[in-house]
Amino acid sequence: MSSISGINQQHLNALSVTADRLNTEVSGLSAEAMLSHILSRTLGPTNPSVVSSFGADSAVLLHMMSKIDPALPVIFLDTGFHFSETLRYRETLQRHLGLTSIRVAAVDPLTAKRIDSGRQLHITSPDACCELRKVSVLDRYLRMNDAWITGQRRSQSVTRTNIHRIEVDRARAKLKINPLADWTDHDIEAYKVANALPAHPLAKQGYPSIGCWPCTTPVRAGEHARAGRWRAEQKLECGLHNRSDIIATSSHL
Ligand code: SF4
Repeated sequence: MSSISGINQQHLNALSVTADRLNTEVSGLSAEAMLSHILSRTLGPTNPSVVSSFGADSAVLLHMMSKIDPALPVIFLDTGFHFSETLRYRETLQRHLGLTSIRVAAVDPLTAKRIDSGRQLHITSPDACCELRKVSVLDRYLRMNDAWITGQRRSQSVTRTNIHRIEVDRARAKLKINPLADWTDHDIEAYKVANALPAHPLAKQGYPSIGCWPCTTPVRAGEHARAGRWRAEQKLECGLHNRSDIIATSSHL
């Protein structure tokens, strides 16, 4: 298991104060204005990174960010199990939006071989696989950042209904910025259309939420957008956002 050491309560308290202040400052601002405010450097975190899966809805946050600072680092966690369509889509968006600092982050090969030499961990223990290929990798890549920016939305899952626009990632002792926290599916689709954003190639093939190919299936009419993720498992999240939300309890989505 990855672990972040050296986090002290005083630092977490200071982050909470900053998060409260920023939430007050951005209250009533649009997502774009909020992001602009946060990235104004003198007011917000000084060294944030965007974390993007380059999934079905990722273009929205990346487009907003590109209008403000196309050189802001974007971390892409390459698990080695992405759909080829996702990897091509990353290149499409990079060109389309003029992103100049996409950082592809992956577990080091020796560690992957030691823990999962047969590349079967996603079958035997999906939580351990996500920990190895996503959570521990993000932990390492965020060490140099004081904040990360995500596309999380409350309407995406029961595990996300309580997120704030700006909150404290207590496990990593960072600020976490969620500009789209209060956006609905309709808001997302309207923004994509209004800005003529390229679509993920799988979005029209029944994949409204796209992760690694072994753990993502298309959804049927009437199913929740994330119903195709870890369909055979009682698992709702990879653990990047909140490790306690990994396992579903009773009401799946
Ligand atoms: S989503 Fe699946 S393949 Fe990807 S890291 Fe998690 S368990 Fe492994």
